Amino acid sequence: MQELTDLALGSGQPAYRGQQLFDAVYRQKIERLDQVSTLPLEYRARLVEQGWEVGLPRIARKFISNDGTVRYLVELADGETVETVWMPEGDGGESGDGSEAGDEIDARIDAERVSWRRATICVSSQVGCAVNCKFCFTALLGVKRNLESGEIVGQIAAVLREQGVEPPLQRVNIVFMGMGEPFLNYDNFMKSVRLLAEGVGIPESRMTVSTAGIVPRIHDFGQEPLRPKLAISLNGSNDALRTEVMPLNRKWNLEELMKAAREFPLRARERLTFEYVLLADVNDAPEQAREVVELVRGIRAKINLIALNPGTELPYRTPEQERVMAFQRILVAAGIPTFVRRPRGRDIFAACGQLKRTVEVAPTSDSKSTLSS
Ligand code: SAH
Repeated sequence: MQELTDLALGSGQPAYRGQQLFDAVYRQKIERLDQVSTLPLEYRARLVEQGWEVGLPRIARKFISNDGTVRYLVELADGETVETVWMPEGDGGESGDGSEAGDEIDARIDAERVSWRRATICVSSQVGCAVNCKFCFTALLGVKRNLESGEIVGQIAAVLREQGVEPPLQRVNIVFMGMGEPFLNYDNFMKSVRLLAEGVGIPESRMTVSTAGIVPRIHDFGQEPLRPKLAISLNGSNDALRTEVMPLNRKWNLEELMKAAREFPLRARERLTFEYVLLADVNDAPEQAREVVELVRGIRAKINLIALNPGTELPYRTPEQERVMAFQRILVAAGIPTFVRRPRGRDIFAACGQLKRTVEVAPTSDSKSTLSS
C-alpha cells in the first residue's frame, strides 16, 4: 500500500491514487491498468508506458471434488504454478477455536446469496517446499522459489473473483497451509497478511499459518503486532519419531520447539494449534498419544489430528478410523481439545500434503474431475 502511495507521489500524483490502484487490483480485481476507471486516462497511459503491469495470477486449471472442494492450479507471471484450494464448508482446522461465534449472523447474511457459511482458502507460500517431510507430497518437488507477497494475495484474489465472493461482506478464512513453508518465506508471508487485512478485508483473526517448526521465526512471529493464529506441525511424539518423519527435527528438536511454543504470547482466548498427521503403526499408538499429552502440558493448545492422505509414492499407510478415535480419546481425556480433521478433496488430490502438481494424472480440460485416489 505504502509502495503504491510512493509510486503515485513519485509521479506527481496525489497520495490517494495509491489507494485507488490498490483497490482496483485487490478489491475490484481488474486485469489491466487501463481498466482502472478511478484514475485519469493520462495517468493510466503513463503507468502502462513505464512498464507497470497489474493483474492477478491466472487460474490455469481447476478440479472440483465431489465434496465441493475446488483445487486451483494457479499460474504465476513466470509460468511457475502453485495450488490454491477452496473449501466451501471450512475446516482449515478452525473447529474449536471460537471463530464459530458469529456464525449465526453470517449464516443469515449468506443464506440469501450463497450456499456456504464459512469458506476457507488454503494458500501456497512457495513454489515447492524445502522441508522434506516424509509423508508430504509437496516435499517430492523440492523448492523452486519463494512467492512474492503479491503472488500470495493474488492466489486469494483470483479465487475470490472466480467464486464471486467479496470480503468482508462474506466471511472467508485463510489458512497458509498449501505448498511451501511460510516461515521460510517470512517477510513476504507477513507482508501478504497485511495486504489481506488492510486491502482485501480479511481480518488476521480469520487467518491461520502453519509451520513445520522453524523455531527462530516462531519467536519473531510472536512479536508481530498484527498476526494470524499459529499452528505447528508436530507429527511425532518424541525426537526419534519426529526426526524420522520430519528430518528438520534434527535442526530444531522437540525441546526447542516446545520451548518456543510455551513462550509464544497467546492473546486472550487464543489457542495454539498442533497438527498431528497419523501414520498407521508409525506414530498412532496410544503410548504416543500419551507422549503428546506430556509435550503440550501447560500450553493453551488444541490438537488437530489428520489421518494420512494416502498416495502411492509415500511409504506410509492411513490408520483405521478406530485407531484415530482411540488416539483422540486419550488427548480429550487429558483435557486437550482435539479434533479429527475431515479430509477434503481426496478424490482430486487436494487434501493436505497432496498439493503436488499431479497434472499428469489429471484431466486436461477445465471440466469437473472424478479422479479417484
Ligand atoms: N509447511 C507448513 C504448511 C503446509 S502443511 C507445515 O508444515 O505446517 C499443512 C499440514 O498438512 C501440516 O500439518 C502437515 O503435517 C499436513 N500434511 C502434510 N502431508 C500430509 C499428508 N500426506 N496427509 C495428511 N496431512 C498432511
